[in-house]
Amino acid sequence: MNPMSEGSGHSGESGATASKPRKAKIPGVVSIGVERSKGCGFCVSFCPLGVLRMSTRFNAKGYHYPEVADGDKCTGCGLCGMYCPDFAIFGARSSGVVRSGAKAKASDTE
Ligand code: SF4
Repeated sequence: MNPMSEGSGHSGESGATASKPRKAKIPGVVSIGVERSKGCGFCVSFCPLGVLRMSTRFNAKGYHYPEVADGDKCTGCGLCGMYCPDFAIFGARSSGVVRSGAKAKASDTE
């Protein structure tokens, strides 16, 4: 009666009953090229999950740029990038290593 069953694939009840099963959601990541944006807002409008919003800050060209409002919702569908006329934003499915969230920098603003 060994309580430690090593690697037998019979993990049984070792805490599995207490935890919730993981959601089947595929996490996404969105990257924003702040200085490429002309502030059209297409990405914000077309994101089906409300991940994005327009920043109140300006980029070096004087445009408001998109920023992540709720990165955990991003599925990496890529619609934001498909609608962007300036190739300023890209959404992609992550490998699971990187959780969703923009790499938008607020540098060169103000
Ligand atoms: S990849 Fe899809 S879900 Fe993520 S921000 Fe872009 S449009 Fe929204």
